[in-house]
Amino acid sequence: MKSAVVVGAGIWGASLALRLAETGWRVTLVEQYQPGHLRQASAGETRLLRCAHGTDEWYAQLAWRARGLWRALGERAGEELYGESGAVWFARRPDGWERQSAQVLKNLDIPHDIWEPERAGRLFPDFRGDDLAFALWEPRAGVLRARRAVQVTAGLAVDAGVRLVFGRAVPYGGAVKVGGELLGADRVVWACGAWLPRLFPECTGVTVTRQDTLHFAVPGEWSTPPLPAWVDYDGSAYGHGDLGGAGMKVTSDEEGPPYDPEEGERRVAPRSEDAARAYLRRRFPVLADARVLLAQVCQYALTPDAEWIIAEERENVWVLGGDSGHGFKHAPALAEYVADLLDGAAEPDRRFALGPREPSRGLRTSGDTDLPG
Ligand SMILES: Cc1cc2nc3c(=O)[nH]c(=O)nc-3n(C[C@H](O)[C@H](O)[C@H](O)COP(=O)(O)OP(=O)(O)OC[C@H]3O[C@@H](n4cnc5c(N)ncnc54)[C@H](O)[C@@H]3O)c2cc1C
Repeated sequence: MKSAVVVGAGIWGASLALRLAETGWRVTLVEQYQPGHLRQASAGETRLLRCAHGTDEWYAQLAWRARGLWRALGERAGEELYGESGAVWFARRPDGWERQSAQVLKNLDIPHDIWEPERAGRLFPDFRGDDLAFALWEPRAGVLRARRAVQVTAGLAVDAGVRLVFGRAVPYGGAVKVGGELLGADRVVWACGAWLPRLFPECTGVTVTRQDTLHFAVPGEWSTPPLPAWVDYDGSAYGHGDLGGAGMKVTSDEEGPPYDPEEGERRVAPRSEDAARAYLRRRFPVLADARVLLAQVCQYALTPDAEWIIAEERENVWVLGGDSGHGFKHAPALAEYVADLLDGAAEPDRRFALGPREPSRGLRTSGDTDLPG
């Protein structure tokens, strides 16, 4: 029987552990806290699932595959982990990122539509779209209950035979040291999110930034059915309607200051609330003074080009990270991809290799943000 040690029970590590266990591997999953603990990036209340990725086909396809896997996982768990509310992209330019995305979605046969801004406006009880050229509608996109999904995934992994070990792991040659225990296996995978750069300081080139998220109270009639997810790529803002009572999420994809995921303060900065309210005032004016229901601080683990790191750092030791703020949705499909690499059934794409990268934002949910507001 092949064996693996996976370090990190965020959604990437937990999904990989589950996939490996279900395909015949003996798996140990190491986590320093509880799966779904509030310091991990995966423990946000919600995460968007969208297939639009600009000109990129690989991530679009991966997201589409993941959508099916999330739905199946929810059915298996007997709870809704993925709310398929649809997502609308507010395109400020006629020929920008959203137009490129639409072309790729068309090539891949992923459901989408191009709408006049007025039609997008009808999705929301209160909406200002006078700055928009068009809207890109993804009816099969939606919102994942992220923290819950990590807990469910890790639980299913344990049910599938994964041994969950609590403790802070350190690399020990090709093995993993946790307290006094040395864990060896045919493959070791470090899926440590924002902790990866401190474990492998020389190889990852990952920057960790602080990201603030707010959820605002909405009137009752905005909640059933929940309003869709929405993204303003050139405005660097995104969010979604009230899902399960969590309120309207409004956040920005702009990088916050450098951040320590372990010691960093987890109180949202007043300027983040100001920025969210300014966006609400512009796009959904009636919510500009809505009450804050939930405020969360999280962190991005950014590579310069937003491509992930999936690489063999030394023989049989893999690093999996640099999610760059867009990794949650893909997790179950990414786990399939990585499991094939560990099995030797496939080679990793060069785009995920360690080493220098050219800066690019094309895979993120915001562009250069040189347009007003
Ligand atoms: C504000 C915000 C919004 C986002 N929005 C979206 C979105 O809409 N859609 C989307 O797809 N993605 C989104 N993301 C990105 C998504 O959350 C991440 O891509 C994903 O959660 C990364 O998961 P991970 O498992 O790699 O990392 P994490 O969830 O951070 O997990 C890493 C785990 O490793 C553990 N660990 C680290 N070091 C050790 C060690 N030495 N020993 C033991 N355990 C260790 C940590 O405790 C942690 O539990 C967003 C991120 C943020 C911050």
